[in-house]
Amino acid sequence: MSTGASASPIQRNKRLSFSTTVRIRPSLKQAGRFYATLIVSLSAFFVISAVAPAYALQVTVSPFRISPGDPFIVKVTGVKSGTSPEATVKDMQLPFSSCGEGCFLAVGLMDLNSKPGSYTIALKIGGKKVTSSVRIKSVRFPVIHLTLSEDKVSLNPHDLARAEEEDRRLKSLWQIRSDRLWEGSFESPLQNELSTQFGTKRVINREKISLHKGVDIRGKEGEAVRAANSGQVVLAEELFFGGNTVIIDHGLGIFSVYMHLSGFKVSHGSSVSKGDVIGFVGSTGRSSGPHLHFGIKVQAMNANPVSFLKLKL
Ligand SMILES: [Zn+2]
Repeated sequence: MSTGASASPIQRNKRLSFSTTVRIRPSLKQAGRFYATLIVSLSAFFVISAVAPAYALQVTVSPFRISPGDPFIVKVTGVKSGTSPEATVKDMQLPFSSCGEGCFLAVGLMDLNSKPGSYTIALKIGGKKVTSSVRIKSVRFPVIHLTLSEDKVSLNPHDLARAEEEDRRLKSLWQIRSDRLWEGSFESPLQNELSTQFGTKRVINREKISLHKGVDIRGKEGEAVRAANSGQVVLAEELFFGGNTVIIDHGLGIFSVYMHLSGFKVSHGSSVSKGDVIGFVGSTGRSSGPHLHFGIKVQAMNANPVSFLKLKL
């Protein structure tokens, strides 16, 4: 799906070929009509020529139709000014980075609570205002009902204080806005099948609801876990719920999260490249067996990692 301030290059070509066709049609009997048509054709040609540079500007949103929690790419090409475009959707500012000459792209996300419908993307490109949109479809996420003893549901005051302090620290991490460190598309940290999908609702004892903010990937204890893309490690420590956790800042508000590791191969501040081993599959923290919990954050929101890995960045 693509929209722009003006017609696409394909539409422009159609109009130009129309004016050419008209010019080879005249006959003596239709001389008057011919000259009138010629004048119209030539005026159309000069009008098109005068505004031709604007036609090169193109805004593409892909995918255009997404589920709640899915990311999307806004790509702007043909930018003459060299200054980065600005874009807002649902009050969220999308951070653009360069994708070549006159090309800028940004990764946006519609969070898990977004209602189905069409959402406007308001852009400013070199002083021009342009709108595009992204559409959210209706999706039912899986629901799991669990019955657990009270001691497994409620935390003692000490654990609760620890979990809340960690939660505050994580929330402040999502506010970091580094320069772009990722290169190309993201890759799966562990090439195994999933055991729990993104967005799965867990209803515990018919009342407490927890949402699965990432995916669980099956794995054997000690299997290597790899960085989904290049970036900088902003956390490598044991957390109450996540156990041994690594968080990588990929820049422009994109982070990847790896939980329940048995051990670390990186530490806070390490620079990593895509595919580097960062730790090993384990079952630390609140976990019922060895697996990797893998999450992606975009502008402090939870992205569906499966959809994120499909983005052609
Ligand atoms: Zn999980």
